Amino acid sequence: MQPEPRRLVIIGSGPAGLTAAIYGCRADLSPLVYMGTKFGGQLMLTSDVENFPGFPDPVMGPDLMMRMKSQAERLGASLVQEDVVRVDFRSYPFEVTTDGGTTGALSVIIATGANPRRLGLESEMKLMGRGVSNCAVCDAFFFRGKKVAVVGGGDTAMEEATFLTKFASSVQVVHRRDSLRASAALKKEAEQNPKISFVWDSAVTEVLGDKRVQGIRVRNLKTAEEREMEVDGLFVAIGYDPNTEVFRGQVELDAKGYVAIRDGTATSVPGVFVAGDVHDFRYRQAVTAAADGCKALLDAEKFVKQAEDARRAAAN
Ligand code: NAP
Repeated sequence: MQPEPRRLVIIGSGPAGLTAAIYGCRADLSPLVYMGTKFGGQLMLTSDVENFPGFPDPVMGPDLMMRMKSQAERLGASLVQEDVVRVDFRSYPFEVTTDGGTTGALSVIIATGANPRRLGLESEMKLMGRGVSNCAVCDAFFFRGKKVAVVGGGDTAMEEATFLTKFASSVQVVHRRDSLRASAALKKEAEQNPKISFVWDSAVTEVLGDKRVQGIRVRNLKTAEEREMEVDGLFVAIGYDPNTEVFRGQVELDAKGYVAIRDGTATSVPGVFVAGDVHDFRYRQAVTAAADGCKALLDAEKFVKQAEDARRAAAN
């Protein structure tokens, strides 16, 4: 006999997945969380978090995630550190497979997040959280009166550059071409900001500094000329890759590969819900992902109740 399906399987262990797990325990859904082999999401690569409500003193990103994990564990969630390698949302109960086996699920919350694209430089990773950042909203505050550079020419880069001007003394946008991809409004706002200047046709080839960013080396892609720019911070804003490979063909994705949303947190498959950066390329904050996890759980709870009523009715 097949084991009973789980009432709720959550895939992902960032703020979205773990908040869904915390609420899922409180709703008596006994959630099973596949955390992935790398637990915790983007906050595991963040140093001081100063904007998560309830923490008047800065909290380290990994500490914050450990606290969310402990809270979910204490409330009774089953947390498994395995990657999901396959899902089947065409049969019901759904099937979720890891290297450890296949589990049936009455509902699933996808909370697998997105990875910020990296330049791919060793020095970038070495100084990540030490002047290199992917999030102006989180880190701009640390650059009051300082010079910073932003890499990228899309909407995110323009938003980050404009946001940074609230604090930084100057913002230089380094872009690999000589025109921006960003939408007209964001582009205009950045171009008209007196603190923002543009370094066209250029790529960052090295982040300089030992313990903290002290500058960047930039190559002009047309002339191959290299020069050093003195900056205290580098914001890499070259896009995100949502972690949706495993869901391709099982649930509707948008043109950029993010999970498409229907109503609330519903996806194209009734019973499969989504939370956090895997669908949200707009807000991308720990607190908005957490809020999303809560919403997805409330939607899943309703769905499970209806599904169980229907199963009971069918059995009688
Ligand atoms: P994006 O539109 O893909 O733009 C990425 C930018 O980074 C491009 O300018 C690209 O250059 C550059 N880039 C990519 N790889 C690079 C590399 N290895 N080295 C140097 N530069 C590189 O990403 P996004 O700006 O994050 O936006 C993603 C989506 O979210 C878009 O649909 C955007 O409209 C949306 N968004 C909307 C808002 C808003 O409406 N307020 C805010 C943020 C994002 P090229 O131009 O040469 O390709």
